[in-house]
Amino acid sequence: MSIAQQISTIQSQLKSSSAKLIAVTKTRSIEELKATYDAGILDFGENRVQEMVDKQSQLPNDIRWHQIGHLQTNKVKYIAPFVHLIHSVDSFRLLKEIDAQGKKVGRIIPCLFQMYIAQEESKFGLDENELLSILSSPEFAELQHIRIIGLMGMASFTENEAQVAREFNSLRELFIELQSKEIGYATGLVEWKELSMGMSGDFLLAAQLGSTMVRVGSAIYGARS
Ligand SMILES: *Cc1c(COP(=O)(O)O)cnc(C)c1O
Repeated sequence: MSIAQQISTIQSQLKSSSAKLIAVTKTRSIEELKATYDAGILDFGENRVQEMVDKQSQLPNDIRWHQIGHLQTNKVKYIAPFVHLIHSVDSFRLLKEIDAQGKKVGRIIPCLFQMYIAQEESKFGLDENELLSILSSPEFAELQHIRIIGLMGMASFTENEAQVAREFNSLRELFIELQSKEIGYATGLVEWKELSMGMSGDFLLAAQLGSTMVRVGSAIYGARS
């Protein structure tokens, strides 16, 4: 199937949910990205800063670039002028650097906190205590060039659907709990509206469990080499 056909199949599977498709274009060629754009997709996810910057300079300006992978503090400056949403904020230090770079370019940069939900070893993501400690810190309240708009999480890489569902549910429960808390609200810095969960292997389950953004690569383009 062509890229356009794969996208249209996935879009129809998502139709009954509120999840939006982010095409994960890391490692894919400019031609593949153009075909994606021509199929009507404007949300592109990349995980390497240099690759995102290179592609952004070659493609139409109405594409919304999502940083989905671990972001090194010293690379924030390269994407700050244009990035649409950073899904992978996994430390307060990184958030402060995004704020500093947002200030330099005169932007408020939308961000999601990446939460650690999987059973397996992973280097990245916050736990609930770390998240609450950031949100309630006085330093957080002083940030002016970021906006927190939700959470991101990656489930375990397993065939065990019950486990994946448990992990997605735990993320959604935290999301709902945050929506009912005042924490961070006073400053206008926080609006819990996006829940980024679901990849090629589990996006349908994620969509059923309340995802608002699914990040899908190989189900559109085939396996990455
Ligand atoms: C690569 C990647 C994806 C997409 O993975 P697929 O299995 O190809 O859909 C989604 N989210 C993150 C954070 C990724 O790094």
